[in-house]
Amino acid sequence: MAEQRDDKTDQLQAEIIKLRTQKDRLLKELDAVEAQYGNLDSLYRRYFPIILDVLSRDGTALGNACNQLGAAMRKKASPAKIEYIFGQIKTAMIQEDIGPAVAKKKKGFFSSLRKNSSENQVLDNLRQSYQDVVNYLKSNLDKKYTGKLESITSNLIKIEEIQEFEEVRENIFSLIFNYISETNQDREKVNAFIRDIVARIFEIEKRLASSYEHTSSLLSSNQGFESILNNEMVGIKNSFDAAESLDDLRVKISTGLSSIEKALQKKQKVDQAISRLAKKSKTSFTSGFAKLKQELQAATKYSEALEKKLNEDQLTGAKNRRAYDKKIGEEMDRFLRYKNIFSLLVIDADKFKNINDTYGHAIGDRCLQEIIKRTQPLLRKSDMLARYGGEEFAVIMPETDTKGAMKVAEKIRQTIEKIEFLYKEQAVRVTVSIGVSCIKEGDTSPTDLFERADMAVYKAKENGRNQVMAQ
Ligand code: GH3
Ligand code: MG
Ligand code: MG
Repeated sequence: MAEQRDDKTDQLQAEIIKLRTQKDRLLKELDAVEAQYGNLDSLYRRYFPIILDVLSRDGTALGNACNQLGAAMRKKASPAKIEYIFGQIKTAMIQEDIGPAVAKKKKGFFSSLRKNSSENQVLDNLRQSYQDVVNYLKSNLDKKYTGKLESITSNLIKIEEIQEFEEVRENIFSLIFNYISETNQDREKVNAFIRDIVARIFEIEKRLASSYEHTSSLLSSNQGFESILNNEMVGIKNSFDAAESLDDLRVKISTGLSSIEKALQKKQKVDQAISRLAKKSKTSFTSGFAKLKQELQAATKYSEALEKKLNEDQLTGAKNRRAYDKKIGEEMDRFLRYKNIFSLLVIDADKFKNINDTYGHAIGDRCLQEIIKRTQPLLRKSDMLARYGGEEFAVIMPETDTKGAMKVAEKIRQTIEKIEFLYKEQAVRVTVSIGVSCIKEGDTSPTDLFERADMAVYKAKENGRNQVMAQ
């Protein structure tokens, strides 16, 4: 009996030891599980804020889902709940960034960003903007510029690199400068037109600089990170289905998170490099603009000087025949359209041949210069004094009738009569005969007016010179 009891006791003890060992093993396992949970928790705390930072965008479905995920993590929500939120994240990614088209759904979040501002799209936008400028020029400039504008269009089509737009821009500018120096149009209109074109080009260039910066950073920075993040997200989600045990799940998740962390670190490095590069290109664009502005100012100054020269008499500094023709044409148009009157003086130096013969051509020249210098202050700003020919001058006087014009003519005559040019301490005097005419009904061209004033000069000469006559 006693032996039997001993056997039972041994059996029970063995059972107890076995159970104790099992208990110890289970407790150890539990410790290990807790330790791994602790690790996982700290992993979540370390990495998820970074990931959520990257993904969270205020007010978007994706941002909301990321926030929910963060909250669920902190609350140690069940795997089922977390899986559900991952599902929401995936849906948000597809809806927000790729849209409803089924074919596009295959693309990832970052590749869709990259696509939206892809370099090709920037190139196309710039190409279109420049083409708009070219079209605008085509419809505003003379036909003779069409060939050059068409060759700019064919260059635009061929462009494959952003930098190549520089050449197009240069071509457009040189065409505009050509136009400035060749044009005979109203200066104000030309200026406004040029300002408009230049503003358009600067606008395109500004856009180019910012798109370039934006595109480059997005392009390179997200390379690699996108695919790693996508894969790991899918991997983490699948872990919930595929994991054979809790340990297995933990290992899978922590491996996934490590990959994401590495990818993030790599992305941050690339980001920094890209940001330096973008800053550099922005600086070079900015200095490019500054240079362009300077060139433009210099070219505008040059074209203004050129235009002034084109309209100026070199000896006296008065306006020349070209400027006279233009101004009298405009006044004639105004008269024909609005009946605005204007008058004309024709001033002819008396016996000027004698002056040259007696004192020499140089003194003759100085006399002509002096006549202009003394006459100019007697006129209004809106009047134009021009050297019509050798020793003949003309004054166009807008909004002035015969009476008013005669008054001014008489003042001019008296002023010149009083001038004493000194030649070898001898006083040289010059007089002028002035013919006056005012535009009248029936006049159809500036010649009508000029012929009357010229006839008046002829009469003044016949009458003894140094006098004013109207016709
Ligand atoms: P009139 O009173 O009839 O106008 O006599 P005039 O001698 O002024 O007329 P004419 O047309 O016979 O001669 C014009 C002179 O003006 C001849 C020419 O040498 C002189 N002249 C024309 N252009 C210039 C110039 O640029 N400089 C100088 N010094 N003389 C000039
Ligand atoms: Mg003459
Ligand atoms: Mg004369």
